Amino acid sequence: MLIHGRCHCGNIAFSLAWEPDPPEIPARACDCSFCTKHGGVWTSNPKGALEVSIRDRSLVSVYAHGTRTADFHVCSRCGIVPVVTSRIDGRLYAVVSVNAFEGVDPSLLRRAPASFEGEGKDSRLARRERNWIPDVRFVDA
Ligand SMILES: [Zn+2]
Repeated sequence: MLIHGRCHCGNIAFSLAWEPDPPEIPARACDCSFCTKHGGVWTSNPKGALEVSIRDRSLVSVYAHGTRTADFHVCSRCGIVPVVTSRIDGRLYAVVSVNAFEGVDPSLLRRAPASFEGEGKDSRLARRERNWIPDVRFVDA
């Protein structure tokens, strides 16, 4: 399955290769202070491959908070946050926003709350290495 997503204005788009086709897609509603404010709900596949395609990099604002180990890629034109990345030991990992999906059957989404508050930095990075998308490319659209 190739999952497409984009911000509202289309400046930041992504395609996520998810093989084999998922019977369901985990959708984690993060309760961190930032995701609470913008309604962040994330998914990832540790066997997936992600391509993020950007039309105008000057209209992408990268925001970090808390442990500052994750970069939220905010479209500064429309305000949507389609992707988060984390660089761990030189490798770029990512999660994508299910709210930015295009054309995905919503019944595939298995929504659940997720709380990572209080998690230490080392265990946080180890969890991302296990669960996040480990194959991430940024390209110019
Ligand atoms: Zn946008």
